[in-house]
Amino acid sequence: MTDKSFTLYNTLTRRVDALAPLEPGHLRFYGCGPTVYSYAHIGNFRSFLTADLILRTAHAIGWKTTYVTNITDVGHLTEDDFTDPSGEDRMAKALRSKEGERFANVWDLARYYAGALLDDWHTLNLREPDVRPRATEHIREQIRAVEQLIERGHAYETGQGIYFSVPSFPVYGKLSGNEAATDLEQAVRDVVVDEQKKDARDFALWKKDPTHLMQWHSPWGWGFPGWHIECSVMAQAYLGEEIDLHTGGEDLIFPHHECEIAQAESLTGKPFARHWAHTRFLQVEGEKMSKRFNNYYTVRDLVAPESEGGRGVDPLALRLALIAGQYRKPYNFTFATLRDSARHVQRFRDALAHVDRIAAEEAPGDDRIGPRLDAIYARALDAMLDDLNTPAAIAAALDGVKLINGMKDHLNGASARAARAWLDQINALLGIVYHETETTTPDAEVDPLAEQVEALLAERKAARKAKDYARADAIRDELDALGIEVMDTPEGTKWRRKSDFGF
Ligand code: AMP
Ligand code: ZN
Repeated sequence: MTDKSFTLYNTLTRRVDALAPLEPGHLRFYGCGPTVYSYAHIGNFRSFLTADLILRTAHAIGWKTTYVTNITDVGHLTEDDFTDPSGEDRMAKALRSKEGERFANVWDLARYYAGALLDDWHTLNLREPDVRPRATEHIREQIRAVEQLIERGHAYETGQGIYFSVPSFPVYGKLSGNEAATDLEQAVRDVVVDEQKKDARDFALWKKDPTHLMQWHSPWGWGFPGWHIECSVMAQAYLGEEIDLHTGGEDLIFPHHECEIAQAESLTGKPFARHWAHTRFLQVEGEKMSKRFNNYYTVRDLVAPESEGGRGVDPLALRLALIAGQYRKPYNFTFATLRDSARHVQRFRDALAHVDRIAAEEAPGDDRIGPRLDAIYARALDAMLDDLNTPAAIAAALDGVKLINGMKDHLNGASARAARAWLDQINALLGIVYHETETTTPDAEVDPLAEQVEALLAERKAARKAKDYARADAIRDELDALGIEVMDTPEGTKWRRKSDFGF
């Protein structure tokens, strides 16, 4: 462990502060993950990459890390649920959409997109968290937290749900600066539907709803948790009552993180996260990324081969392009940057192939490059320690690769080994030279039954087209034996597991 200080802008104190883990040399942090109602887009990944770079920089100075990032697999509101998760949630809406037709129910949809997230995570060479909890796996703890908040006078019940009482937490607003009740009331006027709420700012901890697609039994009947409670509960479950750092995109500062603080600190009476780091939004070619503007990209839209409708972008080039701007500045993603990034990544690959070739030969001579590369690495690391200054770190990395490639024919074995060690270090810091692990989907994420059903349905469709009804019926029987009900509807063939009952 070095004694270098690692500084990051802290949204809470509004200044660049040194990260100061409660346990020296051990950073424990939580990053908000995605809601799995669709494929994650490159903006989401820019935020996840900030957490990844924090992780790598902490490792580079010899710190231990415990990194928890969640999967939100309970649907919440399509509009910001300022106070009240009523109305249609994102996952229910996704299920009704064209893309949603292939899923039997909302659980399958969530499972599928959670698996896709992990694939994209590996594609972009992000390190694995220590724990990746899912909201649906922690409903019991969320219910318990809500009960405790009621017991301590921080929450109350109405006919529609349980609300956190904002006036019971006087420092509400300390993260976002949204302290004026009138602004908040103004902002929520349109979405508040519960007349029994005591204060317009109060936000939902539990929503009573026996018709919701995902519902659990609670002391208040059937329903589902509010969005904010999952993150504070899961962060504390895995990291303890006080955590060193919490990350997410800038849109989460308010209300999500403000509400997390209110819940967590009301439960423990201790400061929740000491440091908050927020990633500014990514724009595409100078515009807000939006399906409406035709500039909306998922990771797979860009990296899938052209034969599969993608753009065949090198995943590491995409990674480099997404980290090319510092996390704290609004970032304009452009195809010009992506092209430059592809050239840079190729330079790293060429250098790697070349030094590996030379290092394998026992060419005599002294190391003539190592000390200069060490100085360049120190520059890159110092830049990362300085509020994740990725542009400066990448510039240093490019200087190093230029040096290696420039010496091409003059590298001896010792120099090549030094260059290889440098490339490994740069890769550990920035992840732009090679993939650290193979791209695989953990078995648990694959739904073999769904794959089998899709294959059989495709075969049945072909059989019916060929008027081979005997075969089509045989396939239906086969599906029946698998516990699958097939429904031929005007919108096409749908299926569901019989065990799913009403879902
Ligand atoms: P969501 O699935 O909407 O909860 O988003 C997952 C994460 O991505 C959150 O931390 C968001 O703040 C972040 N995020 C969403 N859109 C963007 C964007 N355009 N640029 C950067 N981060 C984003
Ligand atoms: Zn969260």
